Amino acid sequence: MSAVLESGPSLEIGGVAYEVVMGIECHVELKTETKMFCGCRNIFGAEPNTNVCPVCLGMPGALPVPNRVAIELLVKAGLAFGCQIPAYSKFDRKNYFYPDMPKDYQISQFDMPLTQGGLVSFWLPDGTQGSCRLTRIHLEEDTGKSSHAGSRDGRIAGSTHSLVDFNRAGVPLMECVSEPDIRSAAAAVAYLEALKRTFVALGVSDVKMEEGSLRCDVNLSLRPVGQSEYGTKTEIKNMNSFNSVRRAIESEVARQAEIIASGGRVQQETRGWDEAAGTTHTMRSKERAHDYRYFPDPDLTPIEFAPSDVTRLRESLGRLPQIYMDRLISEDKLSIVQAQQIVDTPGLAGYYDAAVALTKKPQATVNFVLGDLSRLANETGVAVAASHLGPESLAELVGLVEAKTINSKTAKDLVTRLWSEGGSPAAIVAAEGLGQVSDTGAIDALVAEVIAANEKTVADYRAGKTKVLGFLVGQVMKQSRGTANPTLAEERLRAVLDGGAS
Ligand SMILES: [Zn+2]
Repeated sequence: MSAVLESGPSLEIGGVAYEVVMGIECHVELKTETKMFCGCRNIFGAEPNTNVCPVCLGMPGALPVPNRVAIELLVKAGLAFGCQIPAYSKFDRKNYFYPDMPKDYQISQFDMPLTQGGLVSFWLPDGTQGSCRLTRIHLEEDTGKSSHAGSRDGRIAGSTHSLVDFNRAGVPLMECVSEPDIRSAAAAVAYLEALKRTFVALGVSDVKMEEGSLRCDVNLSLRPVGQSEYGTKTEIKNMNSFNSVRRAIESEVARQAEIIASGGRVQQETRGWDEAAGTTHTMRSKERAHDYRYFPDPDLTPIEFAPSDVTRLRESLGRLPQIYMDRLISEDKLSIVQAQQIVDTPGLAGYYDAAVALTKKPQATVNFVLGDLSRLANETGVAVAASHLGPESLAELVGLVEAKTINSKTAKDLVTRLWSEGGSPAAIVAAEGLGQVSDTGAIDALVAEVIAANEKTVADYRAGKTKVLGFLVGQVMKQSRGTANPTLAEERLRAVLDGGAS
C-alpha cells in the first residue's frame, strides 16, 4: 500500500498530496421540560412507552402545538455562533417510513430554518486555531428508539425480534449542519467540543453522547490538494464518544486512501462504526438521493421572530465559553489543555477567576487549581469551589510561595490541610514557624548535622556516586521540618562536599 497517513491533515497517495474533506451533522436533544409538540415529559431513562400521548404517537386528529422554550433555546444556540435569525421560518413534513416514527413523517425544517450561517471557532491541541462554517441549525422532532434483540451486537442483522420505545418520539431535536471545512480528526473533535461546551454553558442541552442526546454523522471524502471538486463521500454513523469519532475518521481515511492507492473508486454509502473492531462497515448504499417529499406542515403556523425577540435572546447569552477560552489562552497565557479544563469543569471557572483577580498570577494560580486542588476534588468527591479552601485563601497561599516565604513542599502540605479545615495560610505559617529558612547560617548548621550523621553516604558521594546528593538534600529538608529553602540546601551541601570540608 502506498498511502501514507501523516499526523497532519494532508496525506500522500501514490506520490500525490491529498487532503481530507469533512462536514459534520450533529443532532442534539434540547433540554426542555416537555416534548416539541405535546405536553409529554422529556426525560431520559423512563420505563418504555410511559411518556407518550396521541400527539407524539401520531394518532389521527391529534394536533401539534410548538414548544416555545425549544424554539428559543435553538435560537440562543444559533446566536452564540453568529447565525442569522430570519424573521420568518416554518415547519415542514419530511416523509419517510420508519418503524420508530409513528406518524410516518417527521416534523422538521426544509427551506426556511430558524437559523442560517454562523461560524464555530476552536483551538487545536497543537496550539493553532481553526474554524468551521455552519450551514444552518434547524429544529425537528426526534424519532422513537428501536432495540433489536437476540443478536450478538444489538444490530438488526441476526436479531430475533425488535422492540420500539416511543418515549423519545417528539423530543425537540436541533440539527447542526456544518460546511465541509474540517480537515483532520483533531479538528473534528475540537469542533464537536466547541459545540458541546457552548450548548452546556447555555443550558440548551446536557450533550451526553452515551445517552444519545448528542449524535453525529461525519461526511468524509479525499481529494488531491488544489482540486476544487469534492471526491465521493461516505457518511459515518454510530460513534458514541468523541474518541470514537476520532478513531472512526482515522480508520475511514485509511480505507479510502487504500482504495484510491489501488486504483479503485470510493462508493457513496453510509457506513457504521464498529467500536470493538475499530473499523467502519457498509450500512446502506446511497447512490440515489432520498425523495422526502417535503411540504409545509399544514397543522403548524409559521414562526415569526421580531427583532426585539432576537435582542432579548442575544442579551441572555451570558459569557460564551469560546470567548472565555480565548481570553485564558491569549491573555492569561494558559495552555489549551489548561484552558479546556478550567472551562469544562463545572464551577472551576468562577473559582479560578476569583483567585486570579487577587493574585494577578494566572500560571501560579492555575497550577494549584488544576494540580493539588483538582486532585483533592477527585479524592474527596468535593468540588473545588465547595472546599474550605476559598479563592481568597488560595490567593494568600500563592502570594506566600511567590514571595518565597514558604517553599513548595510546605505549600503542598498546607493545601491539603486548608482543603478540609480552612483558615488563613499566612496565619498558620506565622503561628507554626513554617516560613522558609533561607538563612545561610541556619542551613549550614543543618548541613553539618546531616553530613556527620551520614558518613557512608558522604563517602559514596565523594567516590563519585553524585546521585546520592538528592538523599542528603532530603535529610536537610527533614531536619528543618520541610522549611529549608531546597535550592539553598543543595547549594550549601555541594559547597561543603565538593570543597572537602566536613
Ligand atoms: Zn406526547
